[in-house]
Amino acid sequence: MADHDVIIIGAGFGGMGAAISLKRLGYSDIAILEREDDLGGTWHVNHYPGLAVDIASVTYSYSFEPNPYWKHWFARGAELKQYAEHVADKYDLRRHMEFGVLAEGARWDEDEQHWVLTTKGLAKGSRRRTRTAKHLMTATGFLSQPKLPDIDGVEDFAGTVIHTAKWDDSVDLDRKRIAVIGTGATAVQLIPNIAKRARHLTVFQRTPIWVTPKTDFKIPRPVQQLFASAPWTQRAARKANSLWLEGMMVTAVLHYKQAKFLNQGAARLATAHLRRQVNDPETRAKLTPDYSFGCKRPTFSNEYYPTFNRENVALETTAIERITPTSIVTKDGVEHEIDVLVLATGFNLWDTNFPAIEIIGREGKDLGKSWRSAGYHAFEGVTVSGFPNFVSLNSPYSYSGLSYFMTIEVQMRHIERLFGELKDRNADTFEVTPQADAEFLEHMLERMDDTVFNQGSCGTARSYYYTNEGDAVLLRPTSSGNARKSVESFSLTDYAFA
Ligand code: NAP
Repeated sequence: MADHDVIIIGAGFGGMGAAISLKRLGYSDIAILEREDDLGGTWHVNHYPGLAVDIASVTYSYSFEPNPYWKHWFARGAELKQYAEHVADKYDLRRHMEFGVLAEGARWDEDEQHWVLTTKGLAKGSRRRTRTAKHLMTATGFLSQPKLPDIDGVEDFAGTVIHTAKWDDSVDLDRKRIAVIGTGATAVQLIPNIAKRARHLTVFQRTPIWVTPKTDFKIPRPVQQLFASAPWTQRAARKANSLWLEGMMVTAVLHYKQAKFLNQGAARLATAHLRRQVNDPETRAKLTPDYSFGCKRPTFSNEYYPTFNRENVALETTAIERITPTSIVTKDGVEHEIDVLVLATGFNLWDTNFPAIEIIGREGKDLGKSWRSAGYHAFEGVTVSGFPNFVSLNSPYSYSGLSYFMTIEVQMRHIERLFGELKDRNADTFEVTPQADAEFLEHMLERMDDTVFNQGSCGTARSYYYTNEGDAVLLRPTSSGNARKSVESFSLTDYAFA
């Protein structure tokens, strides 16, 4: 007899969505294990200055749990954390959650027909222990393992070093000489904020990012009241915004072959934005990407580019040679003296994630090793043959649409159909058939041929969408509509139940 019906690893929006689906089906013996000290995933961990969502909140939220009272069109980080807390309370999820528990690895026990998970409490004196569950779900996020740069001397820096995902709110930035390494979506939000406080800020850019305008505003009280009293108006706003994102961002990237004009339109929009906002032509040239729009995740901001007009901000594009206790030395021999080093260097997806913990399925098959040696695959981005009773929410080809909530809700529906069938059949196990798993992969590879990743010019993008082997397996290369249709129509005979 297993300790739990289901163990979910991760108490972010993905894990909470999975738990809501299971509860809708009547499951109650669910344990949600979380390594952090509270719920909310990304929105609990990240609290760097300027943190906000860059997808409008009418879209970046559960469609079944709209919040009419978002303060801004793009919610700030703290508001998203509050929203996560509200969801946890409303759907009675907190009582399932355990914090400060690090999942280390899980193994399918063929004799007992359940998963055996090894965990370690992070509190002082906690011991390693095992616990068992009939079903295992990993909801560990794509961007959850902070990446430190492989730069000589980074650990020798004697001043303050801070990674954006481990922000220390007490760190003093005022009148300091600050360096930021990295210019991804996080840095784009952070840089304008710290530029205002720094004596001098040097931004070390290796690869520029495409940035399009951000139409942000405070949502007026009457609009909030309208959203609350006539929820269809908020649904309409969600639909309109999601359609725009789908057209500009998803179609332009994933249907590049058919809609190159959209991709070029998005690139032109970003280029015009840059031209309007940055005065110096040399700086503009440095900030202009030389890869196709969408090879790497683009972002939205009205504050990022103008920051480079400030007297106290410099953009450095010469490669970094090494870091000393007091400075960053670039390859041209220039020494940049600094007090604070900010690492906006993102997350490691392909060494320490996919999967985030060791997963051993039938016949000792190691999921991470098999993905790396035989190729990445997961049926509908959710299940893998050879791994019974296992749902992997952060799988290859699972990310659908630009808002993570699109992915989450498609996966919730998958869980509801799959676990509903399991219950109806009174079965103990499910496992996707090797054939369905392989056919889905074949379909994804075919569709990949339409995308900017195959058709565009992505050679210089250094995008985390690509594995170490150079394959763009993170995004599902179909429209969000296709993902939604597919989750309703996949045949339950694609699974073997026993
Ligand atoms: P990121 O996009 O991976 O960017 C990391 C940056 O660090 C890149 O500019 C990278 O340069 C640079 N870097 C890494 N190692 C380096 C090294 N050794 N030397 C020099 N530069 C180095 O990470 P991120 O900015 O944290 O964003 C990650 C994702 O989080 C985003 O793409 C987005 O999906 C999500 N995000 C979302 C929001 C939101 O509001 N929804 C906000 C922030 C972030 P290269 O490009 O040259 O590798």
